[in-house]
Amino acid sequence: MTVQLIDGNALAAQIRAEVAGRTAALKARGIQPHLAIILVGDNPASQVYVKSKAADSEQTGLKATLERYPASLPESALLERIAALNADAGVHGILVQLPLPAHLNASRVIEAIAPEKDVDGFHIASAGALMTGQPGFRPCTPYGCMKMLQSIGMNDLRGKNAVVIGRSNIVGKPMALMLLAANATVTVCHSGTASLAAFTRQADVIVAAAGQRKVLTAGMVKPGAVVIDVGMNRDENGKLCGDVDFEGVRQVAGWITPVPGGVGPMTRAMLLVNTIEAAERASQSASR
Ligand code: NDP
Repeated sequence: MTVQLIDGNALAAQIRAEVAGRTAALKARGIQPHLAIILVGDNPASQVYVKSKAADSEQTGLKATLERYPASLPESALLERIAALNADAGVHGILVQLPLPAHLNASRVIEAIAPEKDVDGFHIASAGALMTGQPGFRPCTPYGCMKMLQSIGMNDLRGKNAVVIGRSNIVGKPMALMLLAANATVTVCHSGTASLAAFTRQADVIVAAAGQRKVLTAGMVKPGAVVIDVGMNRDENGKLCGDVDFEGVRQVAGWITPVPGGVGPMTRAMLLVNTIEAAERASQSASR
């Protein structure tokens, strides 16, 4: 069987082009979509992430403002700043880069963001909206994975078994809910799962989001299955790799996402989608 790659870079480029079109349409009506990005402290990975989020935004015509604060920023000051951004009609999306320094309570900070500006989709109101099938912002990584499935014609997963490896609030759990909403029969596996392979071997779609190299190997995959690799790990040579044993699994799977060039660029693209969506919704409620 010849495996086919789901090219995250190519799909993300298409999505960015769509966002650029929607941004231009809003700008033509005098509205500048605007994302505020807050970085507290100097975590090196976070610095790279916020820079690329700002650059992606600017590239599609969205305005991005990057606010940097020292690691010592008191929580009260951060909450005040978020409240000011919530009240600013010129700001459509607010993103607080995680992780936050230990003295800041991440849940309290995220819950301070107005749900209509919660473009990361991490607010409890966004999680509740996803759970109950209401409109709201979807977390970017699982949202990007769903777009990847749609790109290969898997819009409706009726009759399909899906296995998600991982149950974090930002990837595994929302992924499972999105697959369920697309009519898949969903199993969520985690570190307490006794026999991971027994579940993955039954799966038509596997999403690996465990944060562990080679959590999924060829013998665990049903021939022809779709394998989405969310993981971002380093191999023994320090090279970026996913959770899936790519060389082995590609011999068995029908579709597979590479790392790098798979879910990563899609996650970035979906932030832009959520931001333009936030700006469009704000403009609709302003004109009502
Ligand atoms: P977390 O560490 O929060 O969650 C990992 C989950 O995987 C947990 O639920 C854990 O179980 C489960 N798990 C760990 N090891 C195993 C195992 N051997 N078998 C079964 N389940 C296991 O990570 P995140 O969800 O935040 O991220 C997951 C991965 O995705 C990471 O590599 C991260 O870097 C990457 N990532 C990539 C993104 C991208 O854009 N490409 C975006 C976000 C994350 P338990 O709950 O029992 O501990």
